[in-house]
Amino acid sequence: MEQVSKESVHYRAATGRQRCGNCVMFRLYPPDFESGACTLVKGLIEEDAVCDRWEAKMEKTSRQAAVELGLMRGSYFALLDRIELCKRIGSREDAVMGLSTQAWKIRREAYPLLVKLADEGADMREAAAGFGWSAEQLDSEHLRGWLCKE
Ligand code: SF4
Repeated sequence: MEQVSKESVHYRAATGRQRCGNCVMFRLYPPDFESGACTLVKGLIEEDAVCDRWEAKMEKTSRQAAVELGLMRGSYFALLDRIELCKRIGSREDAVMGLSTQAWKIRREAYPLLVKLADEGADMREAAAGFGWSAEQLDSEHLRGWLCKE
């Protein structure tokens, strides 16, 4: 699919429930790790923006969730490595914070997928630990209410 400009789809700050963060075309972990991306619209995309082409994210199948978790895991570990390296070479604190924020976003996005697969009966303890979530946290009503909502 050919990507289009932000201007052509009236990319703007979101004011309602429809946001890039819950659009089917949003990608949270592009290769640059600096921001979100969109499969339709060119450039860096903010989670709290929206455009005229918003489409609701559909419920993922178990297979899609598992594949996505695998991709996220790679991105998450690459970020942890970068954070560690930045700390070792004494990078600026704000640079480390930026990377940590990106790592948290991936961790946060992984949570509902881990919950979905765990609720379907899969043993997700090891996979969850890979993202820093414990088995108890996967069962937590509080965390589910916060991280599993649209
Ligand atoms: S299609 Fe529009 S609303 Fe959806 S992620 Fe892309 S820019 Fe955001």
